[in-house]
Amino acid sequence: MRPQDLLHPCPEGLYCPLGDFFIDPVRPVDRALITHGHADHARAGHRTVLATRETLDIMRLRYGADFAESRQVAAYGEGLDIGDVRVSFHPAGHVLGSAQIAVEANGLRIVASGDYKRHLDATCTPFEPVRCDVFITEATFGLPVFVHPAPEVEAERLAASLRQFPERAHIVGAYSLGKAQRVISLMRSIGHDEPILIHGALARISRYYQGQGIKLGRLEPATVEEETATRGAGQIIVAPPSVLGDRWTRRFADPLSAFASGWMRIRQRARQRGVELPLILSDHADWNELTATIRETGAGEVWVTHGREEALVRWCELHGIAARPLNLVGYEDEAD
Ligand SMILES: [Zn+2]
Repeated sequence: MRPQDLLHPCPEGLYCPLGDFFIDPVRPVDRALITHGHADHARAGHRTVLATRETLDIMRLRYGADFAESRQVAAYGEGLDIGDVRVSFHPAGHVLGSAQIAVEANGLRIVASGDYKRHLDATCTPFEPVRCDVFITEATFGLPVFVHPAPEVEAERLAASLRQFPERAHIVGAYSLGKAQRVISLMRSIGHDEPILIHGALARISRYYQGQGIKLGRLEPATVEEETATRGAGQIIVAPPSVLGDRWTRRFADPLSAFASGWMRIRQRARQRGVELPLILSDHADWNELTATIRETGAGEVWVTHGREEALVRWCELHGIAARPLNLVGYEDEAD
C-alpha cells in the first residue's frame, strides 16, 4: 500500500479512506479525529468526534455541549479500530490533552503529529516519539534561525522586569488555551507566589486546567469597576494578545506590555506590536526539536505542513529522508 492510500489531503482536511475519517478537518464532516483544542484544529459541527478526554472537554467549554452529535474518548496509547484501520493517540506536549494520531493498516504506520513541542511544559503530558514509516510534522518554526531559549530563562526575564519596575503593571499577552496557563505555571516554578490577575477571556480554560490538577496558584480576575492609580502595579496580568496596546490595558498602572510567543524571536514583530518585553516562549517545536523528532521517529518519509515547509523538506533530503510539503489549508499561527 502506498502511504497516500492510507492518508491524503482533501479540502476538508487529512482524509483516511479506509477508515472514512478526517484528522483535524476544517469543514464539518461525518467523523473527525481531533489532535487538540486550538480553534484551527478543533472546529464545531462534526457528527462524530474522537479525541482525548481533555480535548473533548475543551471543545465543550468553547462551543457548548452540542459541538458534535456524538463523542468518543481516546486514551493515550490505546489502540482503536475504525474500519480496517487501527488508530492510537499519543502525547504531543503542545497543550493539555494534545495528541499525535497514529494511523496503521497493512503494516504501514503514519503519524500525524498535529502541533507539538519538546521543551519543558508542566501543564501537559510530554511528547512521546512514535516509531513510524511516515511522519507528518508541522513547520511553524521550520527555519534554522528559530531556536527557542529555555522557558525558565524567559520566566526569569519577566521576574527581573517586575523587580526593576515595581510601579508598573506587567501585561503579558498569551494565547488563551495553553500559553496563558504555561506562563502562569512557569512563573510559579521559579517561585513567583503573588496572585496573578487574568483577563476574563482566560478564566474558564484556566479553571479547567486547575480542575485537571495543573497548579496555577492564586488567580484573580483582572476586571474591576474601580480604577485606581496603582492598579496592578508590580503584578502580572495575563491577557489575550489582542488586548496589547488596547484601551483595556489603560486601567492599570503605567502598563508594560509583554508578549509570550515564539515570534518574539523576530525583533521587528515585537516592535510592530509595541511590545516592550518580548518573551520567546512557544508551544511549537523549534528547528532543533523538529529535526531531532524526525530522526527519533525513524520515519523514512516526512510530510511537512503548516509553516515554513521548504527548509525542513530540504533538511530531510540532505539526510536521506524522503520529504514533501503537504498543502493543508486553514491552519494558522494561532498567535503563538
Ligand atoms: Zn495548536
